[in-house]
Amino acid sequence: KLYNEVQDLKGNIRVYCRIRPFLPGQSQSHTAIEFVGDDGELIVSNPLKQGKENRKLFKFNKVFGQATSQEEVFKDTQPLIRSVLDGYNVCIFAYGQTGSGKTYTMSGPGLSSKSDWGVNYRALHDLFHISQSRRSSIIYEVGVQMVEIYNEQVRDLLTSNGPQKRKKYTKYFLDLHTLGIWNTAQPNGLAVPDASMHSVNSMSDVLELMNIGFTNRATSATALNERSSRSHSVLSVHVRGTDLKTNTLLRGCLHLVDLAGSERVDRSEATGDRLKEAQHINKSLSALGDVIFALSQKSSHVPYRNSKLTQLLQSSLGGQAKTLMFVQLNPDVASYSETVSTLKFAERVS
Ligand code: ADP
Ligand code: MG
Repeated sequence: KLYNEVQDLKGNIRVYCRIRPFLPGQSQSHTAIEFVGDDGELIVSNPLKQGKENRKLFKFNKVFGQATSQEEVFKDTQPLIRSVLDGYNVCIFAYGQTGSGKTYTMSGPGLSSKSDWGVNYRALHDLFHISQSRRSSIIYEVGVQMVEIYNEQVRDLLTSNGPQKRKKYTKYFLDLHTLGIWNTAQPNGLAVPDASMHSVNSMSDVLELMNIGFTNRATSATALNERSSRSHSVLSVHVRGTDLKTNTLLRGCLHLVDLAGSERVDRSEATGDRLKEAQHINKSLSALGDVIFALSQKSSHVPYRNSKLTQLLQSSLGGQAKTLMFVQLNPDVASYSETVSTLKFAERVS
């Protein structure tokens, strides 16, 4: 296998922590980040509180400090992404409270400058580049899907007739029991939804599709009060390679997941729709945590069926599949308790 990285001892699950910088105008005087080590150590503490028990140590496969560029983050993600060309299924998640940099890591702040590109654009760019330039006996085809999961309902973000501005949101919910057209050979039970699959032949095809996806997401976001932070978005890249020499077929799949904000919602304040959203988010994030935990324990029972998210990704979680979780942190001490609960989630799955 050309693109498979050396397996580390921890197996197929790795966790990277990324701390976003302070934003312009944000006071830097109180940070919860006490120490970032080269080997993945992180110490957080609340400087406004006394006492040693206040300091907490965590260990990750890697910690990216505030000055880390998009390029550096991608460099450590690239081997995993390239293994898709060898037929692996890979899931990459961004987890953290709203405002911690999930979208920045996955997509970036915008498309205007390539140096700002997040993991998903870089991944597609890289997959194209390799699939077209090397391994000449293998012909690769690449297809893209993009869905959103909101309140345990799945919606296609790439409906073929462009942005769905005036159409009703509810029209685009999908059934999970119909299968993705390219994934029928996957073991493990199938749960890719019947979302539209778009063949892409160039990076400009990808940029166009992703613009449609983000427009579809953003359109409803303004209408429904920043819905994007309360929904999960899943960009799936399906790669199919045909080896002309051996006449064999391989398939790999990369899922890039920008999760809903993990912040706990104050029960006394949330009512109605807001409470329902919060309950759905809690449920799906803890279901994801439970699945990854079960996989890390090599448990014989993996509870995939407890949320749409884990159902959808079932064939790409566990087995030979590889998982990477970006744990995103806001350095501000005001976020200290959310930071600790984010880190506790991460600790359980790493
Ligand atoms: P989330 O998706 O978790 O809600 P965002 O990705 O939208 O968070 O980030 C919140 C804000 O912080 C945005 O303005 C974003 O551009 C900025 N930001 C996040 N991470 C970084 C980073 N590594 N470098 C510079 N700005 C960042
Ligand atoms: Mg976001």
